[in-house]
Amino acid sequence: MSSYPDTLLFIDGQWTAARDGRFLDVVNPATEQVIGRVAHAGQPDLAAAVAAAERGFALWSRMSVFDRYRIMRQAATLLRGRVDEIAPILTQEQGKPLAEARTELLGAADTIDWLAEEGRRAYGRLIPSRAVGVSQAVIRSPVGPVAAFSPWNFPVNQVVRKVGAALATGCSIIVKAAEETPASPAALIRAFADAGVPAGVIGLVYGTPSEISETLIAHPAIRKVTFTGSTVVGKMLAALAGSHMKRATMELGGHGPAIICADADIDHAAATLAAAKFRNAGQVCVSPTRFLVERPVFGRFVERFAAVAGEIRVGDGLQPDTKMGPLANVRRVDAMESLIGDATAKGAKIVTGGQRIGNAGYFFAPTVLTELSTDMRIMNEEPFGPVALMNPFDTLDEALAEANRLPYGLAAYAFTGAAPTAARLRDEVRAGMLTVNHLGLALPEVPFGGIGDSGYGSEGGSEALDAYLDTRFVTIRDY
Ligand code: NAD
Repeated sequence: MSSYPDTLLFIDGQWTAARDGRFLDVVNPATEQVIGRVAHAGQPDLAAAVAAAERGFALWSRMSVFDRYRIMRQAATLLRGRVDEIAPILTQEQGKPLAEARTELLGAADTIDWLAEEGRRAYGRLIPSRAVGVSQAVIRSPVGPVAAFSPWNFPVNQVVRKVGAALATGCSIIVKAAEETPASPAALIRAFADAGVPAGVIGLVYGTPSEISETLIAHPAIRKVTFTGSTVVGKMLAALAGSHMKRATMELGGHGPAIICADADIDHAAATLAAAKFRNAGQVCVSPTRFLVERPVFGRFVERFAAVAGEIRVGDGLQPDTKMGPLANVRRVDAMESLIGDATAKGAKIVTGGQRIGNAGYFFAPTVLTELSTDMRIMNEEPFGPVALMNPFDTLDEALAEANRLPYGLAAYAFTGAAPTAARLRDEVRAGMLTVNHLGLALPEVPFGGIGDSGYGSEGGSEALDAYLDTRFVTIRDY
């Protein structure tokens, strides 16, 4: 059994318990056992975190971009060197297999490198003026101390996108990571601190989410809000940010359509999409969920996909042969049971899976449903679990109408052998991200974000930095 550390708050460069000494339990979703504790911040802790972030911003925003870059690259190096130590911690608190935990950590190091590099190129520009002796400068300044809220599905990756972009642009940041998965984000922050990020530039707090968001977003020192989580909570936080005129980035839920045309390589599409569906037990905002399959190949696609699903070894993520871990918390098990129960009561057919596995640990079988109708909750609410919904279609118009039916617009997938079909999908699928004939989303260098109810702003590519920069204009006549 690997050891699992308790997690403290990180305020003003110090790891510290809450001033009132309060802690919350952390549970391993594979065993339902309490494995550790996380400090629960109260108002005095939050006040100290904000004061530190103000001092941190004054320091970090004035440090040269080159020095910031060097510290960030060192943090990435430290993180890579600690992967073997941190991956089992991530697996114990979140559930995902060790291999996925390692991939997440190595990906986080790559994200830091990319954002550090990109920060060196976040220039303003000079605009030629209409008059002699007049300069016109566009200056991009860090927006200020940031409040960041991140979820439990990718405890490190969701934090690093925010911290990396903030640091690369000269902002300080207070992170409220998920209380259920606190130790792996703490290990990430430790790598930054050990690399030389000064006290106050990064804060890490845990506690009661609504108390922390209401306190931080309303605080005049905080200039930007970034949130990843459900659309329901995102709308609340966006409204709060709006009422205080704070900049905001919202990475929210999705209900990803995957369109499989008859001219595609069906076996390749089934294997590729099944890998995407069951990664992290389906608890991925960009997970493919509604599979729309052209009628002549429907039977074959369902059969191939269900065969892959049926072979996935579900178990404790610490076991080397586990391919899919438990759901991260009991809320997801309840949600799966309730959504699948509603669907089957209304006529959906279970091809494989459909139920919890065992009595201990939040394990759920990889599930495929067919014969779905739009009055079922699962066709409208993000399942956020290992369930694939499959219906046939006859025309591309019909598939596009279903793909675009929901208010979400995060990730979409398609497989087709025809270039004109791919071009039509590119133009007509309403989603922030579309990947055709392969899985190509979420690399550090490409934009990552949704439209519609899936939120706004991007957490990848050079666009990731825009959210942390104010654009200012200065014109000077030199005589
Ligand atoms: P949730 O919406 O209550 O929580 C999601 C995250 O937001 C958690 O980390 C939580 O701590 C935080 N949060 C909740 N209320 C908050 C508040 N008032 N202020 C600040 N932060 C707050 O739901 P959940 O049960 O944890 O997850 C359920 C749903 O959330 C899923 O079905 C999925 O739709 C969505 N989700 C999305 C992502 C994503 O990557 N976009 C990640 C996790 C969860």
